[in-house]
Amino acid sequence: MNDHSNADAEHVIARFAGDESGPTLIVFGSLHGNEAAGVAALRRVAAVVEERDLLLRGRVYFLAGNMRAVATGVRFIDADLNRHWSGANVIRNLPDTAIPPQLAEDREQAELLKVLVPLLATARDEVYAIDLHSTSAEGVPFATMGDTLRNRAFAQKFPITVLLGIEEQLEGTLLEYLNNLGVVTLGFEGGQHYADSTVGTHAALVTLALVHSGIASAAELPVDEAEATLAKATGRKRIVEVRYRQGIEEGDVFAMRPGFENFDTVKRGLVLATQNGLEVQAPETGLVLMPLYQKLGEDGFFIGREVAPFWIWLSGVLRRLRVGDLMPILPGVRRSEKNADVLEIDTTVARYFPMQIFHLLGFRKLRWTEGQLVVSRRKFDRKGPFG
Ligand SMILES: [Zn+2]
Repeated sequence: MNDHSNADAEHVIARFAGDESGPTLIVFGSLHGNEAAGVAALRRVAAVVEERDLLLRGRVYFLAGNMRAVATGVRFIDADLNRHWSGANVIRNLPDTAIPPQLAEDREQAELLKVLVPLLATARDEVYAIDLHSTSAEGVPFATMGDTLRNRAFAQKFPITVLLGIEEQLEGTLLEYLNNLGVVTLGFEGGQHYADSTVGTHAALVTLALVHSGIASAAELPVDEAEATLAKATGRKRIVEVRYRQGIEEGDVFAMRPGFENFDTVKRGLVLATQNGLEVQAPETGLVLMPLYQKLGEDGFFIGREVAPFWIWLSGVLRRLRVGDLMPILPGVRRSEKNADVLEIDTTVARYFPMQIFHLLGFRKLRWTEGQLVVSRRKFDRKGPFG
């Protein structure tokens, strides 16, 4: 494709419209241009759907992400397309706005919105969105999700490890944007960028998603094979909560120590990297996640901890009982005057409520400044807006 032309890049890899009143499944690949496995997997699954001429009870869209970056094999051109979905950017790049795009990624976003907006506007049943990624480090594949009960119910159908809380650490991801519109979302890190197996795990996940979204019948797709591929790559299926992010600012020189894989256990104090000539230690004992072994990126690594299934169960019970509604009666906790879904916690008074309690009840962190924690209830936790 030609970078200098004004023509739109083609993002639609395949579209299958069965019953228009059924659920919608949208899968994105290669939102990062150096992650070619996503698009490759979508082509592979599209070929299977076409060949088998499936009867679909809904709509399926396979979309390529950052086409200008894919063309040159880089993560992005001007700005990370998966940190670009702030409200301000989306409004600037909506179809028919007269604002000319500034960055290559503004054009990418405008082109994707041209596909997404009518798709969401015409949805008459649940909408599912999956975003396929890969990592610079080796390691087992895993899913990421905003912790709503609807996202959980979908993720639990796959034989994969799920990482909670990553979206609190990242600003402007595509799935966070879609999640706030009520879409059921699942991110998937399928393995190392260039490993042959990564296309296979991506394709397996998408195959199962066609079935778990209720659009295709399990009898018509190689479901057992897909289950086996994911289960074998995953090993023991776990739920892991992100607790710490090592950020990288523009201009920082960051180098991960060699040899770390996703989900390696690290002890507190272990030197994991150097940043601007200083050693970076693990701030607590836990699992190292997405250690950065490539040049471009804003996240050096994350530290996570496994969550016991009991907490997941308890949290479901508490949310269905709407226990979060009772929080403002506690000392030091008050509801924001501007937004009923936002709580402001005076941490000098309510110091016995760690962030985990709010996670349990379906809130996410907005900001944590001196003396004050601000959390908001995740939208569309139990019920979606479509249909
Ligand atoms: Zn990525």
